[in-house]
Amino acid sequence: MADNILDDRTALITGSTSGIGLGMARALAEAGANIVLNGLGDTQEIESLRAEMAGRYGVEVIYDGANMLEQEEISKMVRAAQEKFGCVDILVNNAGIQYVSAIEDFPEDKWQAIIDINLVSNFHTIKAALPAMKTQNWGRIINLASAHGLVASPYKSAYVAAKHGVVGLTKTVALEIAESQITCNAICPGYVRTPLVEGQITDQMKIHNMSREQVINDIFLVAQPSKRFVEVEELGQVAVFLCSSAAKSINGASLPVEGGWTAK
Ligand code: NAD
Repeated sequence: MADNILDDRTALITGSTSGIGLGMARALAEAGANIVLNGLGDTQEIESLRAEMAGRYGVEVIYDGANMLEQEEISKMVRAAQEKFGCVDILVNNAGIQYVSAIEDFPEDKWQAIIDINLVSNFHTIKAALPAMKTQNWGRIINLASAHGLVASPYKSAYVAAKHGVVGLTKTVALEIAESQITCNAICPGYVRTPLVEGQITDQMKIHNMSREQVINDIFLVAQPSKRFVEVEELGQVAVFLCSSAAKSINGASLPVEGGWTAK
């Protein structure tokens, strides 16, 4: 894929201080897009990351620390990016958290936070970003769902509900913008070895008194026929592809990138 297909575009990626979001930000910057980073973390580390990315890719990189639990902060972040760059041409809704528990023990505050960060924030960003995309008649909305947006696993009720919601939201937005040059799609990764999954591996080691290797092979990769983790870089390239003109007729899709998990 050409290195500079996104020159003069701006991409806002929620939750891009870590993991998949950071990988997508790097891939989109490498393809030429200016970047709005977002996410939690240490202020100095984020500033170093911002400066390193701007230098490495030769694009503008700014950071906005909007909390995905706060509607006002989300809308303000999108408005600020629009004022600076003219439009958020590419919106990647990636911020997400996880909590694993049987439903009868599931804490109400964890349930609400997962629904708010993983699903409701997507509504707020899309609502704020879409009018400017419509004005210029070009845009790309990419929502990070999950294999858990297509199938369920036990003990992940809030996450599975939120990710199925993301798939539904993606389809609805896609129909609303179908006659424009804007597309809205979801990417549904299988397991990717990011801090979000490392935390779950450590929890499962304690719960089952198993080694790291046993947990990885017997609990995580057992779902994934490829028997390997999906890599952040692969997902970055999928995002760049969805932004390319080759993908202009892909709209409302939920693209599995999970080594065959949901083919079973
Ligand atoms: P991660 O923990 O590495 O990164 C999550 C990002 O979201 C971080 O930048 C974090 O700061 C940010 N974030 C969390 N709460 C936030 C808040 N309140 N406001 C703003 N930012 C917030 O996780 P990841 O594995 O890279 O996950 C990224 C996305 O991919 C999530 O939506 C996740 O559900 C999805 N996903 C991950 C996997 C996987 O195996 N890792 C698989 C399928 C889908």
